[in-house]
Amino acid sequence: MDDAVGEVEALAARDGVVVAVGTNGEIDAYRGSETRVIDLEGRLATPGFTEGHGHFTGIGRSLLNIDLRAARSWDEVVEIIRAEAAEREPGDWILGWGWHQEKWDTPVAPAVEGYPVHDALSAAVPDNPVLLKHAAGSHAGIVNARVLDIAGIDDSTPDPPGGTILRHPDGRATGVLRETAYSLALRAYDDAMDRLDNVELERFARREIELANEECLTKGVTTMHDAGSSFDDVERFRRMYDEGRLDVRLWVMLNESNEELAKKMASFRTVGAAGGHLTVRAIKRVADGALGTHGAWLLEPYEDHDSVGLPTTPVESLRETARLAREHDYQLCIHAIGDRANREVLDVFEEAYAGDADLRWRIEHAQHLSLDDIPRFGELGVIASMQGVHCTSDAPWVPRRLGDRRAEEGAYVWRKLMESGATIVNGTDAPVEDVDPIANFISTVTRRDRHGNVFYGDQAMTRMESLASMTTNAAYAAFEEDTQGKLIPGMLADIVVLSQDILTVDENALAATRVEHTIVGGKLLYSAE
Ligand SMILES: [Zn+2]
Repeated sequence: MDDAVGEVEALAARDGVVVAVGTNGEIDAYRGSETRVIDLEGRLATPGFTEGHGHFTGIGRSLLNIDLRAARSWDEVVEIIRAEAAEREPGDWILGWGWHQEKWDTPVAPAVEGYPVHDALSAAVPDNPVLLKHAAGSHAGIVNARVLDIAGIDDSTPDPPGGTILRHPDGRATGVLRETAYSLALRAYDDAMDRLDNVELERFARREIELANEECLTKGVTTMHDAGSSFDDVERFRRMYDEGRLDVRLWVMLNESNEELAKKMASFRTVGAAGGHLTVRAIKRVADGALGTHGAWLLEPYEDHDSVGLPTTPVESLRETARLAREHDYQLCIHAIGDRANREVLDVFEEAYAGDADLRWRIEHAQHLSLDDIPRFGELGVIASMQGVHCTSDAPWVPRRLGDRRAEEGAYVWRKLMESGATIVNGTDAPVEDVDPIANFISTVTRRDRHGNVFYGDQAMTRMESLASMTTNAAYAAFEEDTQGKLIPGMLADIVVLSQDILTVDENALAATRVEHTIVGGKLLYSAE
């Protein structure tokens, strides 16, 4: 990612830092008796990916809710939950989602109305309450005997009004609950969560972080720009780094009120703590809602709704946050999706910058912009923190919301922003989308949605631009360009090895790219099977 160096054959790293790059022959000289050598066999190594806008603990939380969509039979579902229970404490609730009996290869037996019954699940997992949501509706699922017990559902419980306790012909509950009957199980879960003590809450919070860490490493993510954590989260991250249980580098945006920030932000500011892993020098605020829910704040009404959306935070409050950010030397990152929200935030930033060129404040999403505002990113030096994969996810319905003209002029306009001189950092907003840099890379270079349609392809990035948006640009957007984003001597040895060259392989083959190795600070932390 450095023009002066270009592409090389090999690199050497020591003590977590790249010490040399060059030909295989040149780098051979760095080989010692203790050196670990990884032969790439022609594969591509790039700087480790930075996820430019993700919710770190949210990723862990979503992974605790087990995805059962890929299961091919009820037996497989039971097996997945049995394996999960082995990892958990007895009594912990296990949640899953996405099972569908019609999608299984083997018809389920025994069955009632085609649905599985809880017996095998209850036998496999007797000590943990299990609640598995059905794929078709948000309000149906199957639970094990433990949940029936806790929710007080037995053979003589009548169906609640508006719900069904699905039963065997002899009246025994199958474990399948519909509508208000399902609510009984959900209420039992909520009650259990309300009763957790601080020790248990801490255990869950740490588990979420461990799962998020593992997920990031698996996907080749070595740094995450964490889009909103609390002071408590930050303290927990720090403890887990100290204990060696957290590897991914975190650049954290604090998500706290102005009042709390004013009290604590000075003492929480830190750059490169925990051996270069933890940086806290940014604040997250939210100016508006989302386009999908007509919540994004627009200059003109929606095409399909008689409103302009709305601000979620008074602009005056954002101005106060800007003042605090300047006072304590923090970056300010404000979520803005609609063109009105983006304009208001740019106004707040312009006032706060007061001619000062290098604050690197960021607009998170910058999804829909007025033509008049696009050049302001480059002129002011405001970072556009965008999500390539949101463009391709949203493409099928964005023109309905905005109309074709506005969608073409200002929605996800990466190239127009780059041409204005703006820096774009790319992310996935995980867990909203999968924290997968390859999928995001593909969206950014193709703008092709799931139906195969291209969303205003003239705004696509080149492959190098896309890679830069996850490496060098991301480092710049975090004031970390002296240590991250390039593989040249002096930089951190954060490296991802990919199964093929994503810069040259045929576009149709990109999706087959696998992460082979993930290295953080010279430590090999993930390798594909
Ligand atoms: Zn977000």
